[in-house]
Amino acid sequence: MNALVESRHLEFRRNRKVELSIVIPLYNEHEVITAMYERVTAVLAILAIPYELVLVDDGSRDGTPIMMNRLAAADPSVIAVFLSRNFGKEAALTAGLDHATGNAVIIMDADLQDPPELIPEMLQAWKAGVDVVCMRRRSRAGESWFKRYSARRFYRVLNAISDVDIPVDTGDFRLLSRKAVEAMKQLNERNRYMKGLFAWIGLPTSIIEYDRMPRAAGATKWDYLSLFNLAFEGITSFSTAPLRLAMGVGLLTALFGILFTLWIVAKALFLGDPVQGYPSLISMITILGGVQLLSIGLLGEYIGKTYYETKQRPVYLLRDVMRCGKSVNETEAAPHTTFMSVGKETYVRFK
Ligand code: UDP
Ligand code: MG
Repeated sequence: MNALVESRHLEFRRNRKVELSIVIPLYNEHEVITAMYERVTAVLAILAIPYELVLVDDGSRDGTPIMMNRLAAADPSVIAVFLSRNFGKEAALTAGLDHATGNAVIIMDADLQDPPELIPEMLQAWKAGVDVVCMRRRSRAGESWFKRYSARRFYRVLNAISDVDIPVDTGDFRLLSRKAVEAMKQLNERNRYMKGLFAWIGLPTSIIEYDRMPRAAGATKWDYLSLFNLAFEGITSFSTAPLRLAMGVGLLTALFGILFTLWIVAKALFLGDPVQGYPSLISMITILGGVQLLSIGLLGEYIGKTYYETKQRPVYLLRDVMRCGKSVNETEAAPHTTFMSVGKETYVRFK
């Protein structure tokens, strides 16, 4: 490290009083990371407030970690957090929130779909006295008709059947006050559907509308299957309505079965009609079997969730954290241990 950079790091460490933290999760984003860094810092430089950029590498397999290392070495306001593997965006965001120290924390995607130019407006809303500034998409350029439609339907359904009220068309792009961040940190469940958790904490919220941009570079990490999984995760994490629905369907089927039996008995007794068994038997068995298996599967989903919660595994593991150009692994060297704890954080160390 040259002397100039070293003195910049020193200076930063001395005046550490961060007003704004920007948390950005990155998974295979080397194509966009430089453009993102430049655009975000350009906006922050104009604001002239003490800030930090918390970049969280979610186990990327491309050049992302190397570039993050470079940024953290050159710019003391960059905190580079490296997870031990790909834990998913929800865990990466959790790690980011845990490492952010600002009075206000803004969460945004790395791909510049959430324009950094909105940061001043978000800060203004926060200073007006709210704890959460939620960004609502007015439009979503570059996303398919089907994705937009299914996203809208999903939020409507989730709000109708759950005990949280997630504002329609909002993503993870938002500002949280220190109070809101501390509230989020208290939620230590393993199944983390962040949008639901954000809504669950409540607190005074204001909503700003914006136009969602297309991805600046690179490819989306979500295919339809993973979006479906996320949606299912959202519903089962925040509502037991599907269990009740399964019960309702079971009740209706049973009622239908009873009526059908009565009808067959009556027909045989009073009309002397011999029972035409086989086709009705098969259809009843398949319908009942289907409903039962579906309900058991659903029940299993909830039990599975309980199973994961009881394990109490950490939401994520850290491989390394770089603050002020220095890695935890350098400062707390113990090269042969594979796990280590610094405060409440758990690190994995590779030999
Ligand atoms: N991301 C992550 N871990 C993952 C998948 C995605 O940290 O396993 C990050 C990704 O790098 C990006 C953000 O989450 O910063 C949103 O991902 P993406 O743009 O692929 O999602 P989309 O905008 O298409 O919904
Ligand atoms: Mg994106």
